[in-house]
Amino acid sequence: MAGCELQAVAEGVYLVDAWQFGRRGIGGVYLLAGAEAALVEAGTSLAVPRILAALGELGIPRETVRWIFVTHVHLDHAGGAGALVRELPRTQVVVHPRGAKHLADPTKLVASVKRAVGERFPLYGEAVPIPEERLQVAEDGERFPVGGQLIRAVDAPGHAPHHLCFLEETKGLLFTGDAAGLYLKGRLIPASPPPSFDLERSLSTLERLIALRPKALCYTHFGLRPGAEGLAEYAELLPRWLETVRWAWEGAGKEEGPALRLAMEKLARDGWPVGDPLLRDDLLMSARGALIYLARREADPA
Ligand SMILES: [Zn+2]
Repeated sequence: MAGCELQAVAEGVYLVDAWQFGRRGIGGVYLLAGAEAALVEAGTSLAVPRILAALGELGIPRETVRWIFVTHVHLDHAGGAGALVRELPRTQVVVHPRGAKHLADPTKLVASVKRAVGERFPLYGEAVPIPEERLQVAEDGERFPVGGQLIRAVDAPGHAPHHLCFLEETKGLLFTGDAAGLYLKGRLIPASPPPSFDLERSLSTLERLIALRPKALCYTHFGLRPGAEGLAEYAELLPRWLETVRWAWEGAGKEEGPALRLAMEKLARDGWPVGDPLLRDDLLMSARGALIYLARREADPA
């Protein structure tokens, strides 16, 4: 079907390429197929036609889609949820308690994304408000039935305070959202965006995720990676990443602009993929989030 790219990643589990920012292999939406169906993530509103096409291709009636599990409310994960609930008559959007109000009224969320991503903003689509009765707040440990499977919500703050991961208990698939970083072309990329990235919370989240002993990690950015090693690798990467940003921050007299320039120069020297404009933007955004975190910690060391 036109525009729909569908990859089976496990039995009854498909990855729909959302063509985030107009590119293949950057952002995805997982589809759990069966007598009942569910989505993990919604992508931006620009991904909605691809998701509907995927449902059509798999012969999944729209009224059998029971849940959309969004890991967090950043627009590349949840921006399209409002547009999707209009098309999927029985769907409820499962969201972190701290994220629900932003999906009911996305005004603040959209403004914050606009500040964080600058000229990339139009690529984030439109956020349609979700009626309260279509929202389902998930507490840590809560389980949601999808056909014969159970999906467990796991509180996973750090990348953002409103982050959940989802564990598919039968196959041991862990949908990591951004809590375990980005995994693009076999490389882990830090995801520490403004305004509320928190290193300690990220690391304790990773410990909790490791304790779940998942059999595979399903990254939103992008795809399934067998085993759980990616969690420990990310727990090792994040403090090193923060040290790089701290080095630049201190070297630049704690001024944001010069610190970011120094950091990007060092990343280029260290072989990070800054030649790819999209990854460069991601690294820059994560460096800004890390700077904000460092400044916050300095102002309030407790
Ligand atoms: Zn995010």
